[in-house]
Amino acid sequence: MPNITVLDQNTINKIAAGEVIERPASVVKELLENAIDAKSTAVTVEIKEGGTSFIRVTDNGCGIPKEEVPLAFLRHSTSKIKSVEDLFTISSLGFRGEALASIAAVSQVELITKTSVGLTGTRFQIEGGEERSLEEIGAPEGTTFIARNLFYNTPARKKFLKTPSTEGAHVAELVEKLALSHPEVSIRFIQNNQNKLHTSGNHNLKDIVYTVFGREIASNLLEVTVNKPQVSIHGYIGKPVIARGNRNYENYFINGRYIKSSIISRAIEEAYRPFMMQHKYPFTMLHFSIESEMLDVNVHPTKMELRFRDGEMVYHLVYQAVSSALAHKELIPEVELEKKEEVKQNFSEKKHEPSPEPFERRRLMAMEQQAAAVEKKDSAYAFPKRLTPPQPSFVKERDDLADNWLKPQAPAMEKLPEAPTKDEVPKREKGPEQLDLFDGKLLEPKARSMHKLIGQLFDTYWLVEFNEQLFIIDQHAAHEKVLYEKTMGTLKTMEYISQLVSPPIILTLNQNEEILLKRHLKYFTDMGFEIEPFGGREYAVRGVPANLFSIAKKGLLIEMIDGLSEDGSSHNPDMIYERVASLSCKAAVKGGHRLSAAEANELIDQLLSLENPYACPHGRPTIISMSKYELEKKFKRIV
Ligand code: ADP
Ligand code: MG
Repeated sequence: MPNITVLDQNTINKIAAGEVIERPASVVKELLENAIDAKSTAVTVEIKEGGTSFIRVTDNGCGIPKEEVPLAFLRHSTSKIKSVEDLFTISSLGFRGEALASIAAVSQVELITKTSVGLTGTRFQIEGGEERSLEEIGAPEGTTFIARNLFYNTPARKKFLKTPSTEGAHVAELVEKLALSHPEVSIRFIQNNQNKLHTSGNHNLKDIVYTVFGREIASNLLEVTVNKPQVSIHGYIGKPVIARGNRNYENYFINGRYIKSSIISRAIEEAYRPFMMQHKYPFTMLHFSIESEMLDVNVHPTKMELRFRDGEMVYHLVYQAVSSALAHKELIPEVELEKKEEVKQNFSEKKHEPSPEPFERRRLMAMEQQAAAVEKKDSAYAFPKRLTPPQPSFVKERDDLADNWLKPQAPAMEKLPEAPTKDEVPKREKGPEQLDLFDGKLLEPKARSMHKLIGQLFDTYWLVEFNEQLFIIDQHAAHEKVLYEKTMGTLKTMEYISQLVSPPIILTLNQNEEILLKRHLKYFTDMGFEIEPFGGREYAVRGVPANLFSIAKKGLLIEMIDGLSEDGSSHNPDMIYERVASLSCKAAVKGGHRLSAAEANELIDQLLSLENPYACPHGRPTIISMSKYELEKKFKRIV
């Protein structure tokens, strides 16, 4: 065994840097937070090659006095706390005092800074943790921090960096989040010499929402304001029309930090539940100010964890605030039936015009409205009936939740029961009833002519008698299965029929969605979509697969793209096909819809010709059965 030696400080810093600095976005996060902590009113973030070769953050904050500059780069040097007690009252974003040391350990750093009282500024260079120079220099008040060639001296880490465009997107997302969490600071973001974001710093959150998320979201917001002695909430929540397929748009900030809290998420989602389809998540942008005595702060080596002293109170407060914002009158008239019909009619009339103008906003808006109306209908849009919020299930689970309630930058939610995501759909188990089906040989081609279609029950289920058994088919699940298999078939054989959409559907994507779309464009094209850039972050959808024509609406397309982000790192084409195809289920006929016997027969024909007709793509059964024997037992004809 080699001798034990103490690591030198430089090596320690490099190792520790791995915990704090993972990629360019982590550098930007630390620098931008430092700038905000320094009471800046304007900050510019500039990156090149996704931040891998160049990151510059310039602020107009308090600056660092010359004699303290080298100190700031020592591990655990911070001006923000003096002892562990201070952590409980902390209002600044940084507190560990190790970011600058970590950044300097793995990149080439140049710092120029000047305080308001200093006569001159200071320029400091430090590379791989080694000081290179410290000199006086003329400079404006504030701090400019440049980090070049991240991980130049740790090739193993450098290897883990993704492409510049992916790293750049992470930085952009981070800058957007910080801009949204600090409407009082004007933040500018420049990527490869292009201006990507510029907020005004005028305290107006809605302006920033508009800048970051675009017109559609900004024009569908409801305001939330709560002022209680120890907790205040202000911000916006999205109307159910702008719901998304994942939690990326469910954002909130606690005392200026972007944080995930299972309690807050759950309260928000419960409040939305009466307005929302399953697996849909709301847009929220809420700022919480919570007095420090209401929070427990735990400090770990790499992160700070927060816990509410009274989680139940916070839950109820959030639930009430969101519920009452949603119950706002404005939402109700849009679901009137006549209005919906009107829109539909308008739209179909225009559709038959001989040659549509290239791009017409008004018609697009009609399409959006129609899509929205349909979506609302689907989501069982109703005034919430519950007056008291449902008991949160965390009440009895409080002990398990121990440290995990609030974790900056980490997806919480693991501990609380929630609706399954697309990844977690129930396994396709064959229950005993379905096994019976095999015995009944329902599937044999000869058998089909012996099926006796009895009729439709509750406008949803079809009853079929065959071979001493009663089969009950769920028309919605059956149709989903048929559509799904059709789309999968199309994808595998590439024999699609594309149908023209005129005028095109215009999608406004965020950075992340844009990357996902570009990465998966081939799959969309293989299915029969025709999508092309339309300037900025807009994309025009000019063609859609014929079997999805009736449902290819803006919302669904964005949902398809968002759905892909749940893949994580997996790029398995089969999974992507499955994801995309599972959306064809949206075109399925719903329960509660009367079908003619001919339509039902057609559907059953199609269903029974599939290899596995017994479960819909989400794992729910399509067919259940009851034998004559069971019935007779129930009626006590036999004992
Ligand atoms: P922390 O933010 O956790 O205190 P850092 O390593 O990020 O630790 O920064 C160390 C110290 O350097 C800060 O406490 C602060 O005093 C000073 N500092 C860093 N960035 C700036 C800045 N942009 N303006 C003024 N002071 C800064
Ligand atoms: Mg810091």
